[in-house]
Amino acid sequence: MADKTLETLFHDTLKDIYYAERKILKALPKMARGADAPELKAAFEKHREETEGQIERLEQVFEIIGKPARGKTCDAIEGILAEGDEILEEYKGTAALDAGLIASAQAVEHYEITRYGTLKRWALVLGLDDAAALLDATLQEESATDEGLTALADSSANAKALEPA
Ligand code: FE
Ligand code: FE
Ligand code: FE
Repeated sequence: MADKTLETLFHDTLKDIYYAERKILKALPKMARGADAPELKAAFEKHREETEGQIERLEQVFEIIGKPARGKTCDAIEGILAEGDEILEEYKGTAALDAGLIASAQAVEHYEITRYGTLKRWALVLGLDDAAALLDATLQEESATDEGLTALADSSANAKALEPA
């Protein structure tokens, strides 16, 4: 059996988040269409555009380690996105839809934050400083997105969800 090292972990986890980002890219337009509030639609649309750039950064990281950009099925993101779909279906037309969609989107962001946080630390230990900088740039975007969603929940969506449908 071949040795597994931090390099193996880094490559496998890179494939995991690459798979996840491409799934997220497909899910965000559906969430934007589903959202009620124009500012939530806009937040999802903005993050869809950022996600395209994040996928490009991951492709640059694959290039840095001399591997083809390939995904590996991420069961976690499949589950998180399936829960988001459930909210879309089950809360459609209700006052609580946006609060539920924000919660679903934050579950996605938090998954991404844990992945990018780990990958950045590993890149630094492996001496891949350019990769670490790329991963950190995305980590900052995911964190800002998460904070923006909290702000939308606090400023409107959660209060609106208190109302009867
Ligand atoms: Fe992302
Ligand atoms: Fe995963
Ligand atoms: Fe994200």
